[in-house]
Amino acid sequence: MGDVFMHTYHRLPVTFTQGQGVWLVDDQGKRYLDFTAGIAVNCLGHGYPPLVKAVADQAAKLIHTSNYYHNSAALAFAEKLIAACAAQGMQKVFLANSGAEANEGACKIARKYSFKKYGAGRHRIVTLKGSFHGRTITTLSATGQERFHKDFGPFTEGFRFTPPGDIDALDRALDPEVTAGFLVEPVQGESGVFPQTAAYMEAAARLCAERDILFMADEIQCGVGRTGAFLACENYGIRPDVVTLAKGLAGGIPIGAVLAGEKAAEVFAAGDHGSTFGGNPLAAAAGLAVLEVVTKPDFLQEIARKGARIEAALRSWNQSKIREIRSQGLMVGIDIDGDAAPVLEAGITRAQNGEAGLLILSAGPRTLRLLPPYVISDGEIDQGLDLLRRLTG
Ligand SMILES: *Cc1c(COP(=O)(O)O)cnc(C)c1O
Repeated sequence: MGDVFMHTYHRLPVTFTQGQGVWLVDDQGKRYLDFTAGIAVNCLGHGYPPLVKAVADQAAKLIHTSNYYHNSAALAFAEKLIAACAAQGMQKVFLANSGAEANEGACKIARKYSFKKYGAGRHRIVTLKGSFHGRTITTLSATGQERFHKDFGPFTEGFRFTPPGDIDALDRALDPEVTAGFLVEPVQGESGVFPQTAAYMEAAARLCAERDILFMADEIQCGVGRTGAFLACENYGIRPDVVTLAKGLAGGIPIGAVLAGEKAAEVFAAGDHGSTFGGNPLAAAAGLAVLEVVTKPDFLQEIARKGARIEAALRSWNQSKIREIRSQGLMVGIDIDGDAAPVLEAGITRAQNGEAGLLILSAGPRTLRLLPPYVISDGEIDQGLDLLRRLTG
């Protein structure tokens, strides 16, 4: 049974059939508190009524037409998205379907920007060690983690990794003779929730500006409100040249977006880039429903407040098994003394023993990662943390 899928995932032994808010229900009727939000995707939780309605209404009207034509859902969504990022200088957007595709688009923009202005040879894209940028061959090439590279070479040429936090190393890596772009997660997600320091982000933005290298923020996990600001770059006072978004942007419907500011907004010309599904009305309608909520300043403040509440609670535990806690908004990493995998499993077996279960993520072998939906209540935070304390104690 179940042997029809390629063996790409270590799935936990549970099948979910329903969700409401921060709760998921499995095929046995057991309940689980969801601190994963589908890996930062279901940012408004499960079954959020305005999102459900937007998707249902749009599906009934029009699901897809192709980019041969205009569509008003995509236009409304794109206008709202650009408005949400206008203070960070964003002017234009290309819509795709996933994070990897968004980063592919960003790399193409950096390469063409540089090629048009400086000619061939200035095509390097610098990324960080420990970064995660996707699973296509080029975004794997951009990903600074050996464990993803095994067996898949040869990779796309022109990527170079530099250690996070090391400004001198970055200065050397950003060789203006050969470098087109710098791609950075303001908060590294998959490798363990590592926020960049303000000094590093500022230095990187300055070096890129001085050398006419595009500063590209991969906000696929940390964007769309996750850190308490619509873009995590806002927390650093950085105006990037390019931003990529995906995961939470349509609340669970596949989507990706590449945004560009003044330097790069006009780089792509007709025929340079495209996507069959990109900007389809269904994803756009879902995205608009998400933006209507997550761009509100008081809603974003609540995300920051809830994140701080989680971090403060974790710090008050004084558990010997917890080595380090890092967070920005509702993106929390907890390094533990021991393997993360058994903690994830224990959160599920609890439910199967008749109590409420807890769903959490790992990020690397010894780091727990919490990415709860933004709509989580203080009571649900306390309940989830109480479960987590017992799982790690
Ligand atoms: C998830 C993620 C990606 C890849 O997104 P997919 O939709 O899985 O292709 C890229 N960058 C970051 C920072 C991510 O968290």
